[in-house]
Amino acid sequence: MEKNYHVCTGCGLLCDDIEVESENNTVTKVYTACRVGVAHMKEARRGEADFLVDNKPVDESTAISEAASILKNARNPLIFGLGTSTSETQKIAIELAKKINATLDDTSSFCLGPLAEALIQDKLKSCTLDDVRNKADVIIYWGTDPSDSHPRQLSKHSYFPRGIEKQRGWEEERTAIAIDVRKSHTAKICGNYFFQIPPKGDAEFIDALIAGISGKLPKTSYNYPPKKILELANILKGAKFGVIFAGRGLIYSLENLEPLFKLMKILNEKANFHLIPMISSYNTMGFNENLFAETGYVNSVKFENGTVKHGPEYSVVESLKAKTVDAALIIGSDPLLILPGSIAKNMLEIPVISMDHCETLTSKHAKIYMNTAINGVEAGGSATRMDRVKVSFEPAIETKHPSEEVILKKIMEAL
Ligand code: SF4
Repeated sequence: MEKNYHVCTGCGLLCDDIEVESENNTVTKVYTACRVGVAHMKEARRGEADFLVDNKPVDESTAISEAASILKNARNPLIFGLGTSTSETQKIAIELAKKINATLDDTSSFCLGPLAEALIQDKLKSCTLDDVRNKADVIIYWGTDPSDSHPRQLSKHSYFPRGIEKQRGWEEERTAIAIDVRKSHTAKICGNYFFQIPPKGDAEFIDALIAGISGKLPKTSYNYPPKKILELANILKGAKFGVIFAGRGLIYSLENLEPLFKLMKILNEKANFHLIPMISSYNTMGFNENLFAETGYVNSVKFENGTVKHGPEYSVVESLKAKTVDAALIIGSDPLLILPGSIAKNMLEIPVISMDHCETLTSKHAKIYMNTAINGVEAGGSATRMDRVKVSFEPAIETKHPSEEVILKKIMEAL
């Protein structure tokens, strides 16, 4: 029996204290991880990888040459996914996209992309999760429910743990605040500091909060009690080290990030505030950083003979909606499941190559399916955590499943 510490790639927190026991190349016990992490680590498989063309088993080289042929013959192929891929894989995918003049996008184009871009461009003050644990006295969970989506966020990275300057941990030394449209599990933990706002009410709430922080009467069209907003404004003004964990609920509600920029500006005139995006897939931030380093954009790009174009028309949603792409390579994602059906159905009209560690709706309908290793469990590499800290990881067990990195390299060679 082997016992080792590993990184969990189950969500954007990339917890690095996961104790794993394995026997005969099978994960037998997982300690420290949350329920999501335990299930994720135990997904590791023995046996051979599946390679399917038209749902019929083939060998690896046949699947690769078929995939290369589809990509070579496509006029405008789409490469999509990569949020659960290592940075090494993402960089090869970018090279591949350049080589075949592909449209390249990830889920951030319809999730937290604007926030990731602002952070990469240093337009918002941020900090690390270690800083939060060691110093934070005011923590806001805004439009996010980490108790469900990132189960160890409160216990290991924010509200509950002791830190260097916060030896007594939660309640006594920290104030946790939830702002959301519903009373989530996280909101329940925040108790009296839960501020329930109506859907799409975030921009107005921010305006009212800014008014409260500036000593004016806070007003909203939905008549949020001014007294409660003033109470919140006073807590925020007194923060020695504040952090906003911003989730999809907040970003979806805003037409653009201007209200958030204004709030962060005034918070940093009166106090000391940071922002961290609540990213779900463990290396979405890595994708945004790697693509930005190559092109100056974080998502939605189209490569064309040495040039790069960028815009919403090159997002996965708009490309599929307008039917501008004629083949798709999907890496570690399930667009048939996650995109609106009216848009996703257009994928059924083009040849799709799916690389994934498990069967998905997309892989079931794909022309080619390649069953790859689970990153962090069966394959090693590196990633960027949601707070932009770089994390490297080794596989917990050996596998016969090829990594995404190996498969992409072989496709590149076969082109
Ligand atoms: Fe894994 Fe996320 Fe759970 Fe940490 S919180 S153990 S990274 S799933």
